[in-house]
This record gives sequence, C-alpha cells and structure tokens, in this order.
Amino acid sequence: MKDSKTDSTTWRTATRLVRGGTRRSPHCETSEALYMTSGYVYGSAEEAESSFVTDGTRFVYSRFANPTVEMFQDRLAMLEGAAECRATASGMAAVYAALASQVKAGSRIVASRALFGSCHYIVGDLLPRFGVDHAFVDGTDLAQWREALSRPADVVFIESPSNPTLEVIDIAEVAKLAHAAGARLVVDNVFATPLLQRPLTLGADVVVYSTTKHIDGQGRSLGGAVLSNDRGFVDEVLGPFLRHTGPTLSAFNAWLLLKGLETMELRVERQCANARRVAEFLAARKGVRRVLYPGLPSHPQHALAMRQMGSGGSIVAFEAGRGRDDAFRLLNGLRLIDISNNLGDAKSLITHPATTTHQRLGDEERGRMGIGPALLRLSVGLEDANDLIDDLERALAAAGLPD
Ligand SMILES: *Cc1c(COP(=O)(O)O)cnc(C)c1O
Repeated sequence: MKDSKTDSTTWRTATRLVRGGTRRSPHCETSEALYMTSGYVYGSAEEAESSFVTDGTRFVYSRFANPTVEMFQDRLAMLEGAAECRATASGMAAVYAALASQVKAGSRIVASRALFGSCHYIVGDLLPRFGVDHAFVDGTDLAQWREALSRPADVVFIESPSNPTLEVIDIAEVAKLAHAAGARLVVDNVFATPLLQRPLTLGADVVVYSTTKHIDGQGRSLGGAVLSNDRGFVDEVLGPFLRHTGPTLSAFNAWLLLKGLETMELRVERQCANARRVAEFLAARKGVRRVLYPGLPSHPQHALAMRQMGSGGSIVAFEAGRGRDDAFRLLNGLRLIDISNNLGDAKSLITHPATTTHQRLGDEERGRMGIGPALLRLSVGLEDANDLIDDLERALAAAGLPD
C-alpha cells in the first residue's frame, strides 16, 4: 500500500525525500515500519511453490527483498530520478557489485586515477586477479580519456568530485567517450550527493553511493546503493549478483537511512554553506598553502563544478604548512573538529589521507594522485561555521602556521 492520495510523480525534491516510497502497513503508522524479519510465511505449500516460480510478486527472503529496504530503495530512486535502486550493506559492496557483476576474464575497465582507496584496490588489484584488464587515467584530462577509450572497454568508472583531492570530471563528455567505446559509465556520486549532481541526467548509466556518508549523515550506519535506468542491467546483471552473493542492507539500517533522507536536503544545504565559509577562511591564511574547494574560483575545474553541481559541496581539502609534521600539529591542535576518516556527518571530521585512507597506495601512486604529505581533508558538518573557523584558527596558531 503506497501513499496514494497524491500523484507522487509530480512531487518536488523535498517532498520525495520525506514521503517517497512509503508503504503503510494495515496499522497506519506515520513513521515507516521496521520489518526485522529474515523470512516470510506462506499459507500453503502451493503458495510457497508459486512464490518461487513467479519471483518478485511477494517477499520470500530478506536477502532478496525486505519491505523496509524496498521503501528506502524507492525513496532514493525517486530522488535520483532512476528507474531502479538496489541497496547494499556498505558503499564498497555497492561499488564492488556494480563493477564485478558486469565483467569477466578479458573485460576492460578504464577508471579515473583519483579514487577512494578501496575503489582503487578493486580496479587495480582485485579484479585483475580474475583476468580483468584496467587502465587508470587523469580524470580531468579529456585527451587521456580519448586515448584510453580509443580501444573497446566494458566499464568506465569515475568519482567526481574525487576523494580526497576534489577533482571534478566532465561526466557528460566521459559518458560520450565511454559509450563510443562500448562501455557503461559508472559514477561514484558520494561527494556530490544526489542533491547536487544527477549523473544519470548527464549520460551516466549507473550511479553508486556510500549511504554511510550524507544519506545517513549522522554517523550511525553503513550502507550503499546502486541506481540505474537500465532495467536490463539491474534485472539480469546486478540483481542476480546481489541475490546470490548476499551483500544485503539490513532492514534496521534501511530504516535509519529512510530517516536520514528526510532531513538530507536541509543538512546538505547547511554543510555546503559552512564549507564555503571555511574554504574562504582557509584561502585567506598564509600558513595554508593550497585550498582545494570546487566552489572557489581558484579551483582548476571551478566552472565545470558550477555547471555540473551548482555548489562546491561539503568537503574542503587543504595543505597546511609543508609536510606531515605541520599537518599532524594542526590536527592535534583542534578542539572541536574530530580526527576521523568518515565524512558527510553532522559533526565536522578531518583526516590526513596520506597516513589513513590512502596509506596503502605508497608515495609514488599518492604523488600521481596529488595527495601530498601536508594534505588534509575536512568534511564540514552542521556546527556554527564561526565555531569551526575559531577551531581552525586556534589549531593553525598551535601548529605555528602564520596568518
Ligand atoms: C566512503 C566511500 C566509499 C565506501 O563506502 P563505505 O560505506 O565506507 O563502504 C566509496 N566511495 C567514496 C567516494 C567514499 O567516500
């Protein structure tokens, strides 16, 4: 039973976030029901038999489908403007399923080099073990994309803005090149969120999220999602992969994520406004050598970011001083902003990528990705921007970095 008093297809974003996908049980609850059940019962042997013959007509097992998880999938699909959404237990489960489900030995993946550490591992280390060929390119350089996609490929994978250097990739151009090479374009849209960027409308075939980030947004749960308008891909490629390998989102986390979506627009708007204030403050400090924020005119792809996202987002990267010691002194001087490698949280969180999220890569690959020893990544939260700026000011002073 869906909310059927109004025509949900005409709802605007805020309404979709609060009401999309709601199915009320016969108890008529206001808040979405949490169905903590692994299985479902049948009234007869015949009903059980027919449920397995006509798959998808009712719930049979929560590894395949669960009512709370379906409400979350429907709400997120509605927000993204996607025909299909499949939720997963984490963002990495979503990335892995989106990629691994569509390749086999001999397939070829072309990816932007500036990827989240675990995404880099899947493309560069794990899938090659199964005979999947790969090439990494500088995602901001269309000439490198043209060259890499002058040969056939099966999948193109990008992250924009990228983690942690906030590179912005021209999704529409890469989509054209990917399609000409016979590949599907998969976009990790975590940093932009579905509120700032809709890759499917720019030509992407598949969008993946770590819902752990802004969608939960309150640091409570892990989750992921894969979205697409390509029903053949979801039903015949991704669907069986998820069903039989089992990276299922728990009903409890789906319920948290439904609640997260209700407030996401308000949170992301405030986080982006705060991030802009923080970026402007940092850019004016002499002790800060470089600020990477797509919303500042100094960002190399500022014009593209404004066209593609309309906002600089909620994450700011910057280089404090010259090296790791300066960066560590700054981190240790903070009293409000927490040192944590998560992001998209209500609380502002800061991390030193070279020694945490991107430690595994080694100096050379980090150098190629622009992750220097002084680089810090700050995920801006919902605190008062003045308190965040005060905290950074105090920590810069404590680190002996001049204003
Ligand atoms: C966090 C993150 C992931 C992984 O998500 P998990 O929920 O931690 O598994 C993938 N891509 C990007 C860009 C991320 O920030």
